[in-house]
Amino acid sequence: MQHVEHMNTAVRLARYALDHDETPVACIFVHTPTGQLMAYGMNDTNRSLTGVAHAEFMGIDQIKGMLGSRGVVDVFKDITLYVTVEPCIMCASALKQLGIGKVVFGCGNERFGGNGTVLPVNHDTCTLAPRGNAATGYESVPGILRREAIMLLRYFYVRQNQRAPKPRSKSDRVLDKNTFPPMEWSKYIDKESFIANFGEDYKAYYENGADLLGDNVDWDLIESHHDNIIEKLDSQCESFKLNVHKKSRV
Ligand SMILES: [Zn+2]
Repeated sequence: MQHVEHMNTAVRLARYALDHDETPVACIFVHTPTGQLMAYGMNDTNRSLTGVAHAEFMGIDQIKGMLGSRGVVDVFKDITLYVTVEPCIMCASALKQLGIGKVVFGCGNERFGGNGTVLPVNHDTCTLAPRGNAATGYESVPGILRREAIMLLRYFYVRQNQRAPKPRSKSDRVLDKNTFPPMEWSKYIDKESFIANFGEDYKAYYENGADLLGDNVDWDLIESHHDNIIEKLDSQCESFKLNVHKKSRV
């Protein structure tokens, strides 16, 4: 499943964010026709001191820097975004206005989710996609490495709590590594699209509210540090950029 492979990268970047005192939310933008990485982003609100510096916005800025504003709109329909946490309402709206091809995410965003949890911005009628086509929303596929995304958020909240001037009672700070809420697939995706994405074999997972990869958590992935990930991602984005320039010369 290529979704899992790309989400693995996003999760590693989210772990990097956690290690740098940011909310562990991260994303990568993949050029769907070539499978190449175009851009990446992680939450940057603590460093930038603005509430809008979400992971998705960092990636959009990178693509804008590479292709210019016009180029962003031209290429966006060919992009699949992999993000560890469901885009918030603001980011979901930005992605829709830019006409993104598809979004794949890990866990739902309980308070601000804009792809089904709180609002379905990706399928609404009041946020216009480019060229005024209100009806064209984007498909959003949830639940890829969901437990890993949830665990990273839990690590973050436990850590935040410990830094509070008056730490709450000890029981509040216990890290839950065992229980996960049931997955409500139907909030985000209908059964037909679910099967189109994952195949008939997984149909029962949809009905049972089960995680796609079963009960296992990839502890190794989320507990290791990924200090060199930025260099790796930068060099991948650089090779995409070179390909774009090669093409435009022909
Ligand atoms: Zn956001």
